Amino acid sequence: MTDSLGFSSRAIHAGQEPDPTTGAVVTPIYQTSTFKQDGIGGFRGGYEYSRSANPTRTALEECIAALEGGERGFAFASGLAGQDTVIRALLRPGDHVVVPSDAYGGTYRMFNKVALPWGVEHDIAAIADPEAVRAKIRPGQTKMVWVETPTNPMLGIADVTALAEIAHEAGAVLVVDNTFASSYLQQPIALGADIVTHSATKYSGGHSDVVGGLVVVAKEIGVPAFADAAERVAFMQNSMGAVAGPFDSWLVLRGLKTLAVRMDRHSDNAEKVVEFLSGHPGVSAVHYPGLESHPGHEVAARQMKRFGGMVSFQVAAGEDVAVKVCAETQLWTLGESLGGVESLIEHPARMTHASVRGTELEVPADLIRLSVGIEEVDDLIADLKQALDRLA
Ligand SMILES: *Cc1c(COP(=O)(O)O)cnc(C)c1O
Repeated sequence: MTDSLGFSSRAIHAGQEPDPTTGAVVTPIYQTSTFKQDGIGGFRGGYEYSRSANPTRTALEECIAALEGGERGFAFASGLAGQDTVIRALLRPGDHVVVPSDAYGGTYRMFNKVALPWGVEHDIAAIADPEAVRAKIRPGQTKMVWVETPTNPMLGIADVTALAEIAHEAGAVLVVDNTFASSYLQQPIALGADIVTHSATKYSGGHSDVVGGLVVVAKEIGVPAFADAAERVAFMQNSMGAVAGPFDSWLVLRGLKTLAVRMDRHSDNAEKVVEFLSGHPGVSAVHYPGLESHPGHEVAARQMKRFGGMVSFQVAAGEDVAVKVCAETQLWTLGESLGGVESLIEHPARMTHASVRGTELEVPADLIRLSVGIEEVDDLIADLKQALDRLA
């Protein structure tokens, strides 16, 4: 029944029928490891053991699949656990992946320090340029193209449709990490992606109170050799076991119900913060796909509903001042992560992206990243202003 409904109706209802025994409107937290069998193999609703399936997790998995317009959803203990499961489900030693030159540090670390020693090779490409990606394809060996858009932390934009064509032509699947945009602002499967991943820790959970990961596999996979992608991910999720627990699943499920209203407010606030930063003399560059001057603006306007809550900017006076600004805000909390209701500020080169220092993914040292929350935007701007006016 939920297939024909709009986004917010699906967010609140998909996978979440009132509990059949009590009528509880909210999906209960089925905090149990095992399920009574009515005679051997007599599973009630298919539930046997909570690594294999748990009703709270099932509700979340059905909800995220409905939100992304995919065939099947999977919930994991973290975003990276979900990504690892996708990589090991679909790739084999000897295969090759094209990865973005601007990506979440932990994603790159996984390709460079975990997948590479296991035998999966990669090349790095500037994914804002589809031809740069095409140039890195190794015919017959490239089996996956990995994309983030917008990217972390430079807010670069990749053209998902163009990259899907390039990947599929080469016999590779296109995986899109949709964490920064969220399911509400961007629907990669409709644009041609085969698999979508999320760090549910960020906007999907939305309240900085849970670590989790989500994976959605499309109904139509663009490469025949990967037509069974959903079964492979399902098999690996159970075999490797990095599943989301019932309470964590419940927290993400609750977060998703308000995703649309939160993302609209995150976007409203970010637009005003960007306007302020763009006019400040101590700021040398502002990176936000909503700016008409942003090189990916046109593509972003085509594939995103709005431009989201992530903003980064560079401080004219350099690294030391950027570091001080991060430490001198009051309302903006200095911290890693993003996508919660509260605003966060951080210095990527020394914090979230310290692990890519010295690689091709190194980020500018004078860069500050903001996760714009949903507080009163005037308070957020006043706080940035006092720090920048004094220091920058
Ligand atoms: C945080 C993040 C991840 C990793 O997710 P975890 O939940 O921390 O494991 C992956 N991709 C992006 C874009 C992220 O921001």
